[in-house]
Amino acid sequence: MNPKPLTDLSQLCIHTITTKPWSIEEAVKNFTNAGVCGITVWRDTLDGRNIRKTGKLIRDSGLEVVSLARGGFFPNKEKSKRKEAIEDNLKAIEEAHELGAPIIVLVCGAEPAQSLEESRKQIHDGIAEILPTAKKAGVKLAIEPLHPMYADTRSAINTLGQANDMACELNSPFVGVAVDVYHLWWDPDLEQEIKRCGSSGHLMAFHVCDWNVPTNHFLLDRGLMGEGCIPISKIRSWVEEAGFTGFNEVEIFSEKFWRQDQAKFLNKIITAYKENT
Ligand code: ZN
Repeated sequence: MNPKPLTDLSQLCIHTITTKPWSIEEAVKNFTNAGVCGITVWRDTLDGRNIRKTGKLIRDSGLEVVSLARGGFFPNKEKSKRKEAIEDNLKAIEEAHELGAPIIVLVCGAEPAQSLEESRKQIHDGIAEILPTAKKAGVKLAIEPLHPMYADTRSAINTLGQANDMACELNSPFVGVAVDVYHLWWDPDLEQEIKRCGSSGHLMAFHVCDWNVPTNHFLLDRGLMGEGCIPISKIRSWVEEAGFTGFNEVEIFSEKFWRQDQAKFLNKIITAYKENT
């Protein structure tokens, strides 16, 4: 089934990292003027700001705060480092609460000096430890599975199946999953796992961009929707069939686009959103 075309921008959210050269104030102003309706805030853009005031600035401009990015990075061989990670995640929860962000996206982390199984156990325990604070703050935690090329240091959770399993184990309305097409498009079980994620009530976020062919950099060469090989509309149709009605979040890390005029890049994003998402 083909998804309905995205004729308006009511479900368009952009991550601040996508237009990295802009400050949060510039992003808010330019997104609003362009008709974008949601923003996912990366924590670095809040440095030196009064977070409550920044949240109010965003809402007053008419934008919805969709998520705060990012928490996670739980695994480490050293207990003291795992404790530091917990503290940083508690801080992120406080920031999300002050900002008025309902969700924190978790890039869960991995430790190359130990097995992926051990890292996953530490991720599970880390989320379980911060969960009571998240619940109290009214902030949900979205586990984002990352492409297996990041299994060395960025995430030991690499498939939607693994993220779904962990969300089910943690069994809380405050734990769910973020589906990012960049990380998951290759998975033969994707359609099934999106269904499962939706029916278990865990589908909290949907991120889009494209996979460049060839990809020149593991981290900083994501493409604009339509430039690469990801069947984005098809995946969006699965997500919508699974009951998701939230934002389509454009999350692009790209040295190439960051070097360009960001106002022109924003226009390209909006065109690519309407035509290729
Ligand atoms: Zn993402």
